[in-house]
Amino acid sequence: MTFSISGLAVSRGIAIGRAVLVGSIRIDVAHSFIELDQIEAEIDRVRRGRNAVVEELQRLQDELPHDAPHELAALLDVHLMLLQDEVLTTGVKHWITERMYNAEWALTTQLEVIGRQFDEMEDEYLRERKADLEQVVERILRYMKGVISPVASPPRSPARKTQQDLLLDDTMDVPLVLVAHDLSPADMLQFKKSVFAGFVTDVGGKTSHTAIVARSMDIPAVVGARVSSQLVRQDDWVIVDGDAGVVIVDPSAIILAEYGYRQRQIELERERLTRLRHTPAITLDGQRVELLANIEQPADAAVAVRVGAVGIGLFRTEFLFMGRHGRLPDEEEQYLAYREAVEGMQGLPVTIRTVDVGADKPLDKSHKDTHLSPALGLRAIRWSLDDPVMFRVQLRAVLRAAVHGSVNLLFPMLAHTSEIRQTLAQIELARAELQERGQVYGPVRLGAMIEVPAAALMVRTFLHYFDFLSIGTNDLIQYTLAIDRADEAVSHLYDPLHPAVLRLVADVIAECQAQGKSVSVCGETAGDVDMTRLLLGLGLRSFSMHPAQILAVKQEILRADTRKLAPWARKVLLSDDPAAFMAL
Ligand code: PEP
Ligand code: MG
Repeated sequence: MTFSISGLAVSRGIAIGRAVLVGSIRIDVAHSFIELDQIEAEIDRVRRGRNAVVEELQRLQDELPHDAPHELAALLDVHLMLLQDEVLTTGVKHWITERMYNAEWALTTQLEVIGRQFDEMEDEYLRERKADLEQVVERILRYMKGVISPVASPPRSPARKTQQDLLLDDTMDVPLVLVAHDLSPADMLQFKKSVFAGFVTDVGGKTSHTAIVARSMDIPAVVGARVSSQLVRQDDWVIVDGDAGVVIVDPSAIILAEYGYRQRQIELERERLTRLRHTPAITLDGQRVELLANIEQPADAAVAVRVGAVGIGLFRTEFLFMGRHGRLPDEEEQYLAYREAVEGMQGLPVTIRTVDVGADKPLDKSHKDTHLSPALGLRAIRWSLDDPVMFRVQLRAVLRAAVHGSVNLLFPMLAHTSEIRQTLAQIELARAELQERGQVYGPVRLGAMIEVPAAALMVRTFLHYFDFLSIGTNDLIQYTLAIDRADEAVSHLYDPLHPAVLRLVADVIAECQAQGKSVSVCGETAGDVDMTRLLLGLGLRSFSMHPAQILAVKQEILRADTRKLAPWARKVLLSDDPAAFMAL
């Protein structure tokens, strides 16, 4: 029976496919399709992993001291029983042979399927055995991690299929939609190289970092869809409407036809926009506008160049630091990553932002931030300044990469003059260390993010110390309005058009213009076509956004006349309900 679930539209487009439920397992698992001749080897890997765990548990059982608590022996029995259960083994085999999932994916899928059955059990004791099953599967996965996968082929990419294709092709070769309770930004990044055509999560806000990564992947996504991971079952057909923020489960043929049509329209629009790739972004009245790209990984530079970005306005380097189980990238690794991005941009400028972990960007997803208010805690520059030795590793790597092209160095979340001074002192120290080593380094322009209201209010002080500013509207809105950007419960209050936010943005732009310093916006509002005209009217001439948004924003710019937009924007600023005013 068809039903729909509402959430937040975070990444545009339509995805139609079968649901893949991803559980809360704490081990990273790869999701890739295998080839026919790899089926036996994958089944064997699971078998060997399972046998190793059985042996381990039996050994533990044999060595159990006589006075060990009775519960311990009973627990081992339960685990052994679960391991040897037919439902687990036959299910895993099914996903490998019928769907060609790699071993880890098959195992976690079956875990999800059996987990649901446990959830539905009336008996509380049996219901609680789900946790045992999860532990057992995690153990197998750990063993399998040590066993080299024979999967060598790259994952097949999920071609966007039309509804016609889908009706003809109801086999395993259809697009897949990932449904999860929550995904960390690092998880999301892992799926970047993967096979999914759409994403749905129960939690998350519009500018949560998980949503941002989904947008950067240009894959339709809906977050904050509350109980979707409970209502949707493995293999259900789902439509992800990333424009309306709706997930339709088990759609009828008529609904499928309608969405298939919309999918084709979106494809056509995309193709039409690619013609603007080489057109300079100049308004009707001759104002040149700089369109830059936000990236998460060095390899993204190629995509930025492909869509005609004139530089990288924000390289979120924290993604190099995530999911590494405490082992941070050393100077050489970071240098090579930054150099790759710089060289990838072929002489165009690259703005490298120092690491911004914390809040909804934990270093490790298994390491839940237990601070009371992580967004207000030791994140971004505070985290870096807390460990100057580690901070200088990054600074030296960036300075060295600057030899290979034009580099800007950007600092997140500064709010205090003391932090600015400490940051600049660390740069001096990093330079001195390189000099002492006799290592070459290049010049960098220094910039600060304006993403805390305090920073916006003391913009003159910032301009005294920095060459350029970059307005991070995602955090500026979060901190101005006291709205956790990752919390769907307050997402209706997260408002880029709030008069207080607009006032701060307008003042920062105006002050930079007055002092002849460059300023850009690199938060999500820069890539929102509904905001383009207002930002132009406020005097903004540099926008940094996901590569996928650049051409749509360029189209708005080509149609705009800033002589008309400036007086209109002033009225929007003075209005006590800017959204309503703009709608007029
Ligand atoms: C911002 O806050 O607007 C920003 C660009 O930084 P991030 O989204 O990475 O916090
Ligand atoms: Mg920010």
